[in-house]
Amino acid sequence: RCLSDWSSDVCSSDLVGLWAFLAFRNRADRRRRRELEQAVAQRSAELLQKNKELEEISLTDPLTMTRNRRYFHETIPTDVAQTLRSHLRTPESDDPAARKQELIFILVDIDRFKRVNDELGHAAGDHLLLEVAKRIASVMRRSDDLVRWGGEEFLLVCRTTDRENASLLCDRVLEAIRELPFDVGNGVQVHKTCSIGWAPFPWLKDDVGLLSIDNVIELADKGLYLAKREGRNRSFGMLPSPDIERRQKSVSMAHLRNCPPELVQIV
Ligand code: GH3
Ligand code: MG
Ligand code: MG
Repeated sequence: RCLSDWSSDVCSSDLVGLWAFLAFRNRADRRRRRELEQAVAQRSAELLQKNKELEEISLTDPLTMTRNRRYFHETIPTDVAQTLRSHLRTPESDDPAARKQELIFILVDIDRFKRVNDELGHAAGDHLLLEVAKRIASVMRRSDDLVRWGGEEFLLVCRTTDRENASLLCDRVLEAIRELPFDVGNGVQVHKTCSIGWAPFPWLKDDVGLLSIDNVIELADKGLYLAKREGRNRSFGMLPSPDIERRQKSVSMAHLRNCPPELVQIV
């Protein structure tokens, strides 16, 4: 009896010990798992952040820190779809959110930029490009995009203005570039101007599919060419002429390329 008492004592104390050990191990396991999960979550968040940064870099022009063409091609289909949707909605609504939207494409080219490279060096030219981009950005809204379109040419994609007000924005850009000299490094300052051509999308409000985005940018480029030809430091917008809707014959980009006044109004 004595022996059996002793053995049952041993058994129960063993069981308690085993239970305590298992409980302790369970708790330690749980803690380790929690720590592991936290470490994995943190690592995933860091990777996500890194991916976002890499994505951002791949969409940014490294010299001017503006958007690049890749960004433009990735984002413009969404803008186009949204704009076209707003034109297909019923026109009666007073809701401002239901208002018809348009996109204004503004091409800005620095005047006589090559001279800066030739006379002051390529580094001064690079410096000037960055400063010009900053000045253009300073007169834009945050929801508009500034894209480096080519060497010393920028494209503004404006979602916050319309064809009635686009010239005012262009005047602000012209003024921002013209008003003060640019510091291009080594204490050198240069005065610069720019020229601008612009066009809206949809180009024709009553026939929103008439011109593609590429067509509209081509028209803006024609405006830019005219601005250069007329002496630079000015802007030209390319709009449909008031007569165009009265025409019986259908119109295409081929008819617009030479900017006939009965089809294209230059403002
Ligand atoms: P215009 O008024 O007719 O526009 O004259 P422009 O001299 O500005 O135009 P042109 O097209 O003759 O010259 C553009 C110059 O821009 C030529 C090219 O070497 C220079 N350029 C293009 N990309 C860069 C760049 O990233 N850095 C620098 N420094 N220069 C560049
Ligand atoms: Mg130029
Ligand atoms: Mg150019």
